[in-house]
Amino acid sequence: MALHHFYISQNDMSCVNFSMTETITKICTIHGEQLFAKSGNGYFRCKKCRYQDIVRRRLKLKSILVTELGGKCERCGYNKCVRAMEFHHKDRSQKEFGICEKLCYSLERLRKEAQKCILLCCRCHREVEEELFAVH
Ligand SMILES: [Zn+2]
Ligand SMILES: [Zn+2]
Repeated sequence: MALHHFYISQNDMSCVNFSMTETITKICTIHGEQLFAKSGNGYFRCKKCRYQDIVRRRLKLKSILVTELGGKCERCGYNKCVRAMEFHHKDRSQKEFGICEKLCYSLERLRKEAQKCILLCCRCHREVEEELFAVH
């Protein structure tokens, strides 16, 4: 499972809101001049570093859930990239939330939701959804 590639997509940031946070401009040793946002403990931290922490945390949570569900696509056996793995609800009426959109939730809550799912790679997931919801 490749965990070393990080990039920030819109989806990763779906439940992060820094707009209310106090910010100042400072020099980050990694990112240069950046906006620093005040965190809960009162320290200012580079926004980019914080984003990366969040992305890492979410990817880590996702990889835990992926591993717990068997670590590979139930349809084709694909198991290379955690980011390409998706959670498909076996029974749509049981769906409370989409796991990949809510990786800011606690592991316990995510785990409960993941138990209603099977693991599919993004390609198989599209195929399965198309079969389920195709208009014939
Ligand atoms: Zn930084
Ligand atoms: Zn697959």
